[in-house]
Amino acid sequence: MASRPLKAVTCVIGGKAVDKKVKISLIAHAPARRCESRARARPARKGAPLRKNDRRGSGKFRANAALTCSPPGVDDRALSWRRYMRIDGSARLVGITALTAFAALGCAQEGDQKGDTSSTGTPYEEPPEPSVDLGRNIQRTALTVDLETKTATAVIDLASSQMSTGASFEAAGLEIVSVSNAQGPLKWALAQGQLDIGVPKNLGSATVTIEYTFKEQAQFQGLMAKGSTLVWPYFCGNLFPCHSDPADGTTFELTVTGAPAGMTTVHPVAIGIDAPSYQIAWATGSYTKLDLGTTFQGVKVVAHYLPGGEADAQKGTAALLDVMNFYEQTLGGYPFGGEAGAVAVDWGPTAYGGMEHHPYWHVSTIAMGDPWIQAHEAAHGWFGGGVRPACWEDFVLSEGTVSYLEARAIAAVMGADEGTKLWTHYQSRLNTAMAGAASKIAWPEGCGEVDILKDQLFGDIAYMKGAFFFRALEAKIGTSKLDPSLKAFFLKYKGRAARFSELLDIVKSVGGYDATACATAWLRSEAVPAEQVCP
Ligand SMILES: [Zn+2]
Repeated sequence: MASRPLKAVTCVIGGKAVDKKVKISLIAHAPARRCESRARARPARKGAPLRKNDRRGSGKFRANAALTCSPPGVDDRALSWRRYMRIDGSARLVGITALTAFAALGCAQEGDQKGDTSSTGTPYEEPPEPSVDLGRNIQRTALTVDLETKTATAVIDLASSQMSTGASFEAAGLEIVSVSNAQGPLKWALAQGQLDIGVPKNLGSATVTIEYTFKEQAQFQGLMAKGSTLVWPYFCGNLFPCHSDPADGTTFELTVTGAPAGMTTVHPVAIGIDAPSYQIAWATGSYTKLDLGTTFQGVKVVAHYLPGGEADAQKGTAALLDVMNFYEQTLGGYPFGGEAGAVAVDWGPTAYGGMEHHPYWHVSTIAMGDPWIQAHEAAHGWFGGGVRPACWEDFVLSEGTVSYLEARAIAAVMGADEGTKLWTHYQSRLNTAMAGAASKIAWPEGCGEVDILKDQLFGDIAYMKGAFFFRALEAKIGTSKLDPSLKAFFLKYKGRAARFSELLDIVKSVGGYDATACATAWLRSEAVPAEQVCP
């Protein structure tokens, strides 16, 4: 730090306001939220990552923020406000907490004699050094996002740990502003896209608050230029601190502000059961909402379309209420709240498809009028979202099952002819995939070894071989045994991660048929079985 300008602040010490001049600098790790009760503030941690263009410490800035240095609870608003500041001529945002931090440092010297205490009066313990622990489960992720400034706060509940004083997150596309818990700032390090935090030992779950900035990303790797987000399969670290491993589900809360004038952001306020990190998303645009009715179990089905998209939205979602009713009755109640539906998103002129961002799944504008796509994305509320694959190797549990369910729903609500048409389309997709260069194995052995993109597991082998496997299984045991099996599996694993083998276990216990050999023939062999019925 080269220099720190003096800044006049008002400290509240012992209930009295005291004017002081304190040194202020731009640094993210200084102690905050302590003025009176914690007597001696610690210096900023050494070795905090200094990024390219990071001009903190240069002292060349103007701030228009009025600082109030207060003990916790006196005026927390002063600690949470953010302001733009101009640093060396370039606009950058820093948390006012950072400024307040050094104000706190200055204030703290008033009460130096008291010794180290926490805000509750108990002896204050130095937060632990950051350490690596990617295995510590994320239980809850509450995001508050400002689109205008591209700043966000993530409040994350971590599983309790007897041993670990670390927690690690994917954060490749983020710049971290601060990390704290209820007691104060925590130490952190960001390197090679991974955020490591030192988390004090805690008997229960530990909550950390991470303030950060994010930026627009390349197509399908985070926030996209046209205003929607997509982080599947492992780009969540471009949008929020996360674990992309699908085994680690989290509940979500999401607040998004700062949409441009005339636009709204469509997103769930909360996802109340554990969901994979790729499920959360938002979409900003000039949306109009269609109400499509309410399912038998009380879920309001909706669609959001962009200007010029009304006709496509009407066409694509004409059967959606019936489709949702089919899934509810076949598989069990919809798991992601009382409202669900499609959101049109501009993915450009060639990207045809959708993404299972339940409860508001995204469908590209050019596919919005396609009832098959709508039925497909809707089914992910049960498979892929409601039950998530435990490993990327279990991808077929999501896409194979959903492709099959899509066909079942379309035949059930749009008629047998439409169902036949869809299976003819599936056959041509399977043929094309079999003629392609990617591996023909839909369900690889192992867990966590495959790179779903680079190893090309994301492709029609998993979708179509998966769908045809279930069709062969249906031909063997009938829907009267298959449907209760799928339902029992969904109800058992809802909000959890599962292996594809665990679905086969339920087919055996509920449906009375051991499908292992059939699944191996369809999904773990290079060829397509000649038999269309499981043996
Ligand atoms: Zn899908």
